[in-house]
This record gives sequence, C-alpha cells and structure tokens, in this order.
Amino acid sequence: VEIMQCPIQHNSWGSTTAIPSILGVAPDGRPQAELWAGAHPSAPSLVGGRPLDEVIAEDPLAALGPDVLERFGPALPFLAKILAAAEPLSIQAHPDKAHAEQGFAAEEAAGVPIDAPHRRYKDANHKPELLVALTPFHALAGFRPIDETMVLLEELDLATLHPFDRLATEGVAPVVAALLGTDEGREAAARIAEAAAALVAADPDTAAGPPSAVTEPVQAAAWWADHIARTYPGDPGVGVSLLLNLVDLEPGEGVNLRAGNVHAYLEGTGIEVMASSDNVLRGGLTPKYIDVPELLAVLDATPGEPPIVPAAPTDNGSFWPTPDPDFHLHMVRSTALPHELHVAGPRVAIVVEGAVTFTTSGREIDAPSGSAVWVPHADGPFRVRGDGVVFVAMVIP
Ligand SMILES: [Zn+2]
Repeated sequence: VEIMQCPIQHNSWGSTTAIPSILGVAPDGRPQAELWAGAHPSAPSLVGGRPLDEVIAEDPLAALGPDVLERFGPALPFLAKILAAAEPLSIQAHPDKAHAEQGFAAEEAAGVPIDAPHRRYKDANHKPELLVALTPFHALAGFRPIDETMVLLEELDLATLHPFDRLATEGVAPVVAALLGTDEGREAAARIAEAAAALVAADPDTAAGPPSAVTEPVQAAAWWADHIARTYPGDPGVGVSLLLNLVDLEPGEGVNLRAGNVHAYLEGTGIEVMASSDNVLRGGLTPKYIDVPELLAVLDATPGEPPIVPAAPTDNGSFWPTPDPDFHLHMVRSTALPHELHVAGPRVAIVVEGAVTFTTSGREIDAPSGSAVWVPHADGPFRVRGDGVVFVAMVIP
C-alpha cells in the first residue's frame, strides 16, 4: 500500500475551491477540475516517485493479479477521479466496445495521428462512467421521454420551431442531427436561448439558483438552458440540453453512463470512476472537436428515465451496483473498528473526508482527506480504520 501523488487537471470549467478544500490546501486561483488517481499514460499518479503505469508494466502480475491481467491485459482497467465542475462540461457520448475497436482500427489504418485534434478513437476500449455525488450535483443524462419534452417545448413556445417540430413524429435522433449539423439548427440556438431566458426572467424564484428538476421540471430545464447559453453563447448544444433528462443528485447518489448515453455534467463535486479509455464523441459546449455523424452513430436515442444509481448499503458504507466489468465503486465510512476489504486485484482508494489508516499485512499508512492510495493485488486484503470517508475503486472478480 502506497500513497499516490495525483495530477490535477486545470480545465476551465473546474471549481477553484472544491478540490483544494478536500485536499485541505489554499486555492491558488486556478480552476481545479479533476484529480486523477490512476495509471493513465498521459497523466499517471506517482507511487514511490514513479509513474503508476510504469510500476504496473514492470510487474503486472503483482500489480493486477492473474484474473485482472488475463481479462484486461497488463494495464489498470479503470481510472478514478475527484471531479469538481463549476460550469457545464461538453455534451458527449462514448462508444461501446465493438464500435471502439472498429473505429480505432479504421483510424489506425487511415494513418490519423493519435494526437490529432480530429482523432476520434484513441484506443479500442469502451468508456462506461459512474459518477457519485459528494455535493448536490447537476447533470444531463440520456434522452427524456418525448411526451415530457413536448410539455417543456410547449411551455417555452418552441414546439413548432424547426427542428423541434419533428420530435413527436420522428424521435430524437433526427432532431439532434439537425440541431448540431445544419445551419438552421444552429440558428435555432438563438431562439432557444431567448425562450429560456424569458421563462427564467418571468420567475423571480430562479434568482436564487436552479429550481428542482423533480418538483419544477420546466423551470429547471429552462434555468439550465439559460445558464448553458450564457456560458457557451451561440452553441447549438443548448437545444440538445432540452432533450435530455435533467438530474439533481444528492450526495451519495450516482449516475451510470453506459455506452451511447448522451450526457453532460453541469455543476457539482463527485467521485468518478470509468473504464480506461479516451474515447469521447462530443456534441457541443466545448471548443474541442465535434463530429456529429460519429456522435449520431454511437448515441442511444431511446428516451427513458435517467440512469440514477442509488447507493446500496453495506456494513460500513455503500456500493453502487453497475453492470460493466471494468470497475466497481465501494465507499467506507467512519470505522471505529477496522474494516477489511477482501476483493483481490488492483485497488485505488481516495479519502474525501476526515483521516484514515490503511493497513496491509506488511505496512500501515496514514491518509488524510485528499489522499489517494494504491493497493496492488500482491498486498492482499487491506483494512481501513479511522474517522473518515473513503471511496475504493476496484474490479469485481
Ligand atoms: Zn462521459
């Protein structure tokens, strides 16, 4: 068991205060969007002064164990993060494994440089994601049932605006295609922004912040569309935002974003764990490369309820049941008695509150809030004790 030194990503949408507060350090004025606890080759954590991806590559059997090594190959299958958003991030979707394999092979064959801005498939893996809220957390996730979206569009007086006028008869995919990929779709963004702003201005309660997505769905959707339009002026993603489920997570609630789910994080701090991949297809709210046909090729256009994952209780905390094999997230809370975790394979723990002690058969490490800890397979079961909250990312055998 070793303390990880974790790189911080300074994306412009990041909160300047949330991650420093978990780390117990003073903000430095810069946005701190994500703290990465893992072995991603572009920004690996350091253990014992060495990049974790190198440590794993040197002895993958000791780091990962035979089961994970056989199933996923000689690299950490997941990446864990603290994510702190002060502003909305890009609207995006991730491919499934078959699509990623195909897309990666095609771009390799075509000789598209791996770091080219228009490169879409940087690897051959899927990228399911689970985000668990540490604070109230707002997100867009999956397409809302069409009858609910029609109510919203009527309230905003946008139901007859092209391309929304096709929603009831043709479904979401052609509407998304037109919003993002045509001139008239992009022109609609101005009308949509005006309509959202007008609805917000007519409701004095919205000055205090976003209305509840559950009790005031129309006001909440308009509030976020207005906020998105002010943050990304002219971006046609504002139109897509009106088609997506708006999710208000309470601390401890998760949202599981599987292949094809169209999503955007809006605001809040959480723990995120994902399969090890860089395959992101963007649909707006970003200066990065947007490929509308490819986004349409991977997106799941089936409307439905948002993919919220409530915490499942355990003796000393919770876990979030997710179906993809690449990761599993578990939380341990304030343990007067040592809590032992028996799961084999590679484990990455992040302390988000208080301070705890990690013990393996050979070693004991004190880890205050903000610490991340690497527990290789070879360390066997480990124990957590102390007064704190720890998230542990691992692979279920
Ligand atoms: Zn994503």
